[in-house]
Formats: sequence, C-alpha cells, structure tokens
Amino acid sequence: MEICVLASGSSGNCFYIEKNNNAILIDAGISTKQIVNRLFSIGKNPLNVKGIFITHEHSDHIKGADVFARKFKIPIFATGKTIDSCNLCSNEDFINKIRNNETVNFCGMDIESFSKSHRAVDPVSFNIYDKKKISIMTDIGYACQNVVDNVGNSDLLCLESNYDPEMLKNGGYPHFLKKWIESDIGHLSNGDSAKCVFENSSSKLKYLVLSHLSKNNNHPDVAMRSFQLLKKKNSFPKIFVSERERPTAIFKI
Ligand SMILES: [Zn+2]
Ligand SMILES: [Zn+2]
Repeated sequence: MEICVLASGSSGNCFYIEKNNNAILIDAGISTKQIVNRLFSIGKNPLNVKGIFITHEHSDHIKGADVFARKFKIPIFATGKTIDSCNLCSNEDFINKIRNNETVNFCGMDIESFSKSHRAVDPVSFNIYDKKKISIMTDIGYACQNVVDNVGNSDLLCLESNYDPEMLKNGGYPHFLKKWIESDIGHLSNGDSAKCVFENSSSKLKYLVLSHLSKNNNHPDVAMRSFQLLKKKNSFPKIFVSERERPTAIFKI
C-alpha cells in the first residue's frame, strides 16, 4: 500500500491510501480543487480515487466530499448517524452507509471502522489492511482502548498530536474552547500522544505521522520534541509531521 497525507489540521484533513492504482480517501476536508492539485503534485491521478470514507461530520473532514464525489462519480461511506447529521452529498445516490465496527473490502483493501472519543454524533477511526496495517486516528479526546490496541500492532500510524498544553493555556482561545480541547471528547495533546506511542508501540511500527496539529496551539518542532522520548525504546519508528498546506511524502508499506 501507499499512503500520503494530503492535508491535516483544523483547516482540513484528507488521507490518500492506494493499492495497485486504486485508492480511497479517508476524509475530504479540503476543497476538490485542492485535493486534485495535491494529488497531481505527488504524481497521482485523481481518477485513482474510488471512494471516500468519512470519520465524522465536522467540516474540516467533509467539506470537499460533496463536490469530489459528484465530480468523479464515486461513493461516500459513513455511519448512519453521521450521514443523518450533516449534508455529506447533495446527490444521495453517492452516499453509502457503513456500521461503526464494520470491515468492508474495497479496492482490494480491508477497511475497518471503530469508535473514538470525540464530540461528534458517531465518530470513527479507520484501519486499512492489506498485508500490512495502517491506522488513522485523529480527533480523539483521549487514548481509549481502541487507540491503545491499534498503536500496538500497526505498521504505519497517523496519530493526532493536536496541541501543546502550555501554548493552549497561554493562547487566545476562549475559556470554554480551551476546556473542550483538553476534555476527553476534544483533542489529544503532544504529550499524551507521545506517551501512548511510547507505552504501546511495538517493533512493527515503521512510520509515525503526527497529524491534526493545531495551527494556534502547536508547532511541528514542539510536537517533534515531545516524541524524542521514543528514542529510549529499543526500536522506534521514523517520525514525520503532516501539514495543512502541502502533502507529506508518499509512504510505501
Ligand atoms: Zn478535525
Ligand atoms: Zn472533529
């Protein structure tokens, strides 16, 4: 499989996963134009994309889905509650229901949804399996057992590292927003994310892509510093930071 994080952060999230020239998107939270441009910039044809899987209804995860699905005539997959909570696509024919905790085979890959803790109607994360396992887990208030289990046996992990607690505390967000971000249904801090990987990752983990960094309450260097503790382990992954404005490298596993 190949994976590229086309965009990640509160301004939009989109993950591209491909097997044998057939691909899916996990979330389409940037515009169709941006998705197309970024795919071309990494040498990929948007026509490779055969389906979009949605994690939850927040706009930074869905705002490009409607236009992209209709333009390329491809299905959008989401749980029933998520479908009912937002306008995923103006043509209902493109909307497909999946269950939370279901595995569907699509493009020759097994795509598994599972619950996460976040303030949304039915938020899910996804595992993508071929011979190897990719886990994409962002927008998580805390590292619940599902997160712990998948950190333990994935080959490539895109894991939220949303905020630095000091930057959040000293920043300009209103009090209620700070409280929500820190809560169990908000986002995962750099320190909690690093601790989770330190305590639970195995020698299987080859790549760790820090994801959904806050623009205002984090910085790639600050996030990376938190993960230095992984060097105390016997084996540790290569660590990358995904960005808002440009795609990551293409990771092959
Ligand atoms: Zn988000
Ligand atoms: Zn969210």
